[in-house]
Amino acid sequence: MKKDLSRVFDFIFVGAGISGPFIANDLCKKGCDCLMLEAGKLFTRKTYPSNGLDGTSQLYWSGGMELGHDCKLAFLRPKVVGGGSIVNQALVDRFDDAAFNSWKDASGVDFFNVNDMEHWYDQAESEIVIQEIPAEFRNKNAEIFDQGFKNMKYQNAPLRRAQSNCYLEEGNCCIECLNGCKLGSKQSTPETVLKEALENDLTLVPEIEVTRIIEKDGDIKVIGKDAKGGTATYRAKNLVLAAGAIGNARLLLNSGFNKKVTHIGHDFYCHPQFMSFGLYDEKINSHKGAFQAFKSDDKGFRENGYKLENVYAGPEGLALLVPGFGIPHHRHMEKLAHFACIEVCTRDTNPGQIKVNRKGKALIRKVQNAEDLSRKAKGTKVIEEIFSSTGAKQIIHGQFGIGLHLMGCCPIGTDSNKSVIDPEFRLHGFKNIFCADSSIFPNAPGINPSLTIMALSKKAAHSILRSL
Ligand SMILES: Cc1cc2nc3c(=O)[nH]c(=O)nc-3n(C[C@H](O)[C@H](O)[C@H](O)COP(=O)(O)OP(=O)(O)OC[C@H]3O[C@@H](n4cnc5c(N)ncnc54)[C@H](O)[C@@H]3O)c2cc1C
Repeated sequence: MKKDLSRVFDFIFVGAGISGPFIANDLCKKGCDCLMLEAGKLFTRKTYPSNGLDGTSQLYWSGGMELGHDCKLAFLRPKVVGGGSIVNQALVDRFDDAAFNSWKDASGVDFFNVNDMEHWYDQAESEIVIQEIPAEFRNKNAEIFDQGFKNMKYQNAPLRRAQSNCYLEEGNCCIECLNGCKLGSKQSTPETVLKEALENDLTLVPEIEVTRIIEKDGDIKVIGKDAKGGTATYRAKNLVLAAGAIGNARLLLNSGFNKKVTHIGHDFYCHPQFMSFGLYDEKINSHKGAFQAFKSDDKGFRENGYKLENVYAGPEGLALLVPGFGIPHHRHMEKLAHFACIEVCTRDTNPGQIKVNRKGKALIRKVQNAEDLSRKAKGTKVIEEIFSSTGAKQIIHGQFGIGLHLMGCCPIGTDSNKSVIDPEFRLHGFKNIFCADSSIFPNAPGINPSLTIMALSKKAAHSILRSL
């Protein structure tokens, strides 16, 4: 890392999650002088937290989870160099016509169609390794998912994961990689594009939380706070916002940009996800081996606005979801090895909003309307059918929903009154402030977002370089 941070950089990036490193790598390759500021810590394969509790407290904002105003949904927001690519399940899917058509309708942006995006998906996929879990390594939880789909005549498909080699034959359990992959198999940005960007002279400074952005006559000043509360100012000709949906909204609101761009903080979506557990007589050991192998691939589910996933979580997460207190809760937890798990992920229709309080803290307002609740109910009914058809003795529903796919708040669009980012990935009215991360999503696609964030970031890098 270069020491001199007082120079005027070509670009400052706020956030080293997925989008930031994807854009920075392409700009650095072309010789741009880039500085990347990230609030979270930099870990290596050897230093990732070794258990779920440490992982939750060290890799996320607010020590693990943030709650919406009515406490009905919990939001997981990564805070670590690599962002979501460190903690996520690394499932990568391209969007379909249904997702892009609704984006085009909402935004007026023409390139939202499968054909125009194909090139950018190809470019994104060329930066990472993608694999399916070989059939011989599917665990018992995956087998129940598959068997239940067959019993009920629903369509499923193998998951595509961004991973290179998990050496499953050696008994590795992929659930550990939710705290950072110690094998370097998961294709997180520190293992892929961020590594390359650093080789191409990117300056990365972890543990700096950007608190304010000042734009004056085309010059950018960024104020950052370090872990001890000290502040520093960094300067650049251009800025790339890559702090995610809540991060970008919070920063832009705290910096007063909403006086000019009034839509900042609106159109927040999160694909609310609800886990249910089937309790079986025999041990399922859902945490063992490749803990996820299948997804739903049923036209009817897609039309009804939900999908099902073969998932699991660490005991610290499950303990929060399993209902009850004291002895009844303890009795359930004792049987964890007998749990199978399926999650319904809804394509939410009711936009939420991010605001900030007087201390600059993000306030999350996200209500599930009748349509969203009905999508959840339909998916949950299918889960019950699957568990019942495969011999579950009891079905337990998690007690609250989780938002993992945080999207929107700075939606892209042609109309500056209804959007925040223009089709050239610029903040409306600002020539030198760019954004292409999850915050630009115009609505919820109902499909895993990260591959599309990578594809849009490749497109944005191309667009930025062309404009320079
Ligand atoms: C547990 C979990 C599982 C998931 N599984 C999947 C999956 O299987 N497939 C999929 O497609 N998606 C998945 N996701 C979602 C996916 O990871 C996110 O959509 C994606 O990471 C968003 O990318 P991003 O670049 O927009 O932001 P992020 O990856 O969130 O990166 C933003 C970064 O900006 C930093 N930041 C924020 N504010 C500031 C500030 N003020 N100053 C400095 N830095 C700041 C943050 O600390 C963070 O590191 C999952 C998410 C979670 C939490």
